[in-house]
Amino acid sequence: MAGLSNAASQPSNGAVPWHQRSVKAIVDVLHVDPNLGLESVEATRRLRETGSNEIRMESRHGPLLILGRQFTSLMVLILLAAAVVSLVMGDKGDAAAILAIVLLNGVLGFRQEYRAERALETLQGLCRPIARVRRDGRVQELPSADLVPGDIILLEVGNLVPADARLLDAFDLRTQESALTGESEPVHKDSAFLPAAEALIGDRRNMIYTGTIVMHGRARAVVTETGSRTELGRIAELIHATDRQKTPLQLRLDAMSRHLAAAAFALVGLVFIVGMWRGANFRLMFLTAISLAVAAVPEGLPAVVTISLALGSQRMLRRNALVRNLAAVETLGSVTVICTDKTGTLTANRMRATKALVGGREFSLQGESRTKDAGLLLLLAGGALCNDASSQSGDPMEVALVEAARNAGLEKSELDRLFPRVTEVPFDSNRKRMTTVHRLTAAADGASAGLFNPLFESRSHQPYASITKGAAEGLLTVCSTVWSEGELKPLTAHRTGEIRDAMDRLAGGGVRVLGIAVRLLHAIEPDADKIERELIFLGLVGLVDPARPEVPGAIEVCRAAGIRPIMITGDYPLTSRYVAEQIGMAVGARVRTGEELARLSEPQLDAAVREGSVFARVTPEHKLLIVEALQRQGQIVAMTGDGVNDAPALKRANIGVAMGGSGTDVAREAAMLVLQDDNFATIVAAAEEGRIIYDNLRKFTRYILASNSGEVWVMLLGPLLGLPLPLLPLQILWMNLVTDGLPALALAVEPAERDTMRRPPRRPDEGLLSGGVGLWILSIGGLLGLVALAGGYGLWRINHATWQTLLFTTLTLSQICLAFAARSERESLFRMSPFSNKALLGAAVLTVLLQLAVVYMPAGQALFHTVPLSIKELALSLVLSTIVFWAVEAQKWFARRKQRFQS
Ligand code: ADP
Ligand code: MG
Repeated sequence: MAGLSNAASQPSNGAVPWHQRSVKAIVDVLHVDPNLGLESVEATRRLRETGSNEIRMESRHGPLLILGRQFTSLMVLILLAAAVVSLVMGDKGDAAAILAIVLLNGVLGFRQEYRAERALETLQGLCRPIARVRRDGRVQELPSADLVPGDIILLEVGNLVPADARLLDAFDLRTQESALTGESEPVHKDSAFLPAAEALIGDRRNMIYTGTIVMHGRARAVVTETGSRTELGRIAELIHATDRQKTPLQLRLDAMSRHLAAAAFALVGLVFIVGMWRGANFRLMFLTAISLAVAAVPEGLPAVVTISLALGSQRMLRRNALVRNLAAVETLGSVTVICTDKTGTLTANRMRATKALVGGREFSLQGESRTKDAGLLLLLAGGALCNDASSQSGDPMEVALVEAARNAGLEKSELDRLFPRVTEVPFDSNRKRMTTVHRLTAAADGASAGLFNPLFESRSHQPYASITKGAAEGLLTVCSTVWSEGELKPLTAHRTGEIRDAMDRLAGGGVRVLGIAVRLLHAIEPDADKIERELIFLGLVGLVDPARPEVPGAIEVCRAAGIRPIMITGDYPLTSRYVAEQIGMAVGARVRTGEELARLSEPQLDAAVREGSVFARVTPEHKLLIVEALQRQGQIVAMTGDGVNDAPALKRANIGVAMGGSGTDVAREAAMLVLQDDNFATIVAAAEEGRIIYDNLRKFTRYILASNSGEVWVMLLGPLLGLPLPLLPLQILWMNLVTDGLPALALAVEPAERDTMRRPPRRPDEGLLSGGVGLWILSIGGLLGLVALAGGYGLWRINHATWQTLLFTTLTLSQICLAFAARSERESLFRMSPFSNKALLGAAVLTVLLQLAVVYMPAGQALFHTVPLSIKELALSLVLSTIVFWAVEAQKWFARRKQRFQS
């Protein structure tokens, strides 16, 4: 691969590869001022020239393709052949009717599939990444697809690099380039690097490439290539466009359809032979065999599953759950454990700094307070300086710190001017802290900004100060002194103990406790190990973050639904426990830390995750341990994550869940589900939708297969009773493609049942037909057939011409009654709201009208060879057709009784 990408490394417009040119040369040739960025007008012009910055990997399913698919399936081809045969044999009516039915069926199918396709496209559109770009002198968020060469992009930890670009400047930038080079270790990048000769991709340290990941640091870069001209684009063009992957359910259904088709053809052969043997006419038997094949093969089933999943994902989207992979829709229905982080998911992420602890004294930070306490001011200034938030946007915790400083009269913009940041060691979830290094300008010695003066005086003057903020207990381990009452004191075990007690007091009340420390430096060295030691501890800030109001309700729903919620957070144990108790997740629970987990043996770990519901001070590696332990116990795990390092755990979980609002591109890329509102309750809602969709697919399948088997039973048993051909080919086609298709589609949009979230999760290996459904289909189908035959046979015995029409009508009406009984697998229809599925009511009315038209209108009679039924006969047909309904209701009643006895 290296050779390949190397060969393709020439920039599109000239001789010297980008990585061998200086920044100056590149911005000149791309006509851009790095400080202003492109002008929008110019960018739009370039976009027209270069095309969208996208690499198309997936083949599109356009409307023509979908329409074509409706008329090229095996079944349709057989029917078309049958129409031709009819025509040749001189039966124009039959041929026209077959064509009409095929057409109607195709149009219905197209409409459904087209809607599903649009739903999927909308989803894909929402999954498109966003890039931060400087244009017209302002930083803007734009779809990555709109980037053009010359754009100035800003990158930080967790971003996917959106285009190939030359670095302008980089702070300790490391990118993971495995998508291009196969190398998974992050590589250091350096904007100043300039190789004299051609270098391989992995060695071009001044360039960043599409599809690689920013694992560390931050950068500014100028886009050199976009879309298919990027290095990744060139490789992707070589790999052929891939089709959408099928979900496990779709694969299983494909297999089932194949088996059923084989069985059906065997049956059809049997009917054909029996018919011929009894001396039926060949043409009629031929058409009958074909119609029966159409009846027995659940041709449309796989398509309906796809449609259901796609439309289901649309319903999830309405509840703020964005599905990135259709397989998630079905897996969600069997989730047994939801591992969620705390901040922002369970809590509102509206943080407020409420308390500060400096030199053994506690301060309230509520409201404005022009404090004169030098220690407190220093603490607040530190919190605002070691901080990436602007006054309104950014990490809510950092915004809260900016706000707290402002309340004490310290403006972050002013502080940033006096103490400009020169370098930094970014936050990462393993260290759980971040450090910034600032130059102490001469202006800062002035009166109001003389914040650090007391500190300087205690030491010889040094030009730089580093500020570190982060998880307090960890921070204490790298501090050697503490700033207390204007003096530098050694951090003795006693003082550490006092600070820890204060921390626990705050955390016990649900407050997030953050420590802040400083250090004076001679030189800049952006290396965590070198800076973050021998720090001066300044104090603690306590922040509160209210629980989201909808969370306690969602937790209760989980409980009832047999889904276990588990909190996995980077926060302090006591804070985490308080929140867990508040939202009803765990009461008096033992909180384990990630470190504890890492020390456990495998069986101990298994026991810990079986019992524990709260895990604190967890790093991404621990998350992976937890997922794996849960999965060993057969759990189906949904797991949230937001950071770069969460990607492995997100991929490993059955459903990786990322945040649409906060969180990184990488996490979103690795996830199957994106919460657009970052809300825990949304995961529960998605799980509910998953269950509904699966239930409905089962209802749909049960109904369609039972109806079909009813038709097959009639055709098989009829001759045994001595009847001539019980149903004519067109009658079978009519039932199959029209009258039972409409109610079936209506079952696919059945709303949630009362117990949808009050029963345990579905076992993931449970198929659409498991749990005795096969037997159910055969026996209910048998009953459908017997009832219709009984009516028809009775009339035939007394030589009535209406016998076949009665049989046909009874079967159609029975299928409608069956659809109502099939609205729930367990619950009685009489306990369900009769109007909650309007689609089914509509389908039933329409189907009855259509059937009446076929029986009573001259055109219908001519085509379908029906004779008008008398009122008495119609009434008999109606009464007979309710039998199946009562039978299914009785079966459900017995099933409920049995279940009650068992539990
Ligand atoms: P959570 O699970 O609550 O989202 P995080 O992994 O985001 O936890 O954070 C874990 C800990 O890291 C926090 O409790 C806090 O002490 C520290 N921390 C989080 N964000 C920052 C930040 N921007 N700067 C410094 N420390 C931070
Ligand atoms: Mg977090």
